[in-house]
Amino acid sequence: MVSKRYFGEYSLMIGRFQPLHNGHMEVIRKCAAESENLTIGIGSAQYSHESDNPFTAGERYLMIDEVMKAEGITNYCIVPIEDLNRYSLWVAQVESLSPPFSRVYSNNPLTRRLFSEAGYELKDSPLYNREVYSGTVVRKKMIEGDGWRPLVPKKVAEVIDFIDGVERLREISGGE
Ligand code: ATP
Ligand code: MG
Repeated sequence: MVSKRYFGEYSLMIGRFQPLHNGHMEVIRKCAAESENLTIGIGSAQYSHESDNPFTAGERYLMIDEVMKAEGITNYCIVPIEDLNRYSLWVAQVESLSPPFSRVYSNNPLTRRLFSEAGYELKDSPLYNREVYSGTVVRKKMIEGDGWRPLVPKKVAEVIDFIDGVERLREISGGE
């Protein structure tokens, strides 16, 4: 078997990034600084145009990529990951889509359990200012007004404006 270390060590972090917010960025900065390479997995990649999942995987990819460029972080790659809706197979799904990795950053109990059962090293990722740095809060503020902008990196707001994301979210979450 080819040694994974030959290509350097990869860490993994997964989120839905609906949208990427300042809490995600705190973790991403920390992981990128601590790791040789960081793989950012875009979870639930197949969903878009839903009130809980308004943005496509490609739009989320652009948000992440633009922010990383703006921050000068280069030791990362982005991998969209569709849900399988079968937790016993999910780690294999992630493995099939990501460069080989050895460490996983997560504070989600299910994610931690699944990857530790599969033998991965789990690293804690603390939550920053969770009352406001949360995808759910950002989407709620987008629907209600303009208060979402301070909660996301500037480049994310630019991407959302470019794709008319707020109007999309308002329309799809409006009642019939
Ligand atoms: P949603 O409310 O849409 O579920 P979310 O804010 O929970 O969004 P996700 O896109 O679901 O974010 O991504 C979850 C990942 O992001 C988890 O690993 C979690 O640890 C991390 N994360 C989310 N919010 C924060 C935060 N405020 N600080 C640090 N990490 C965060
Ligand atoms: Mg979440």
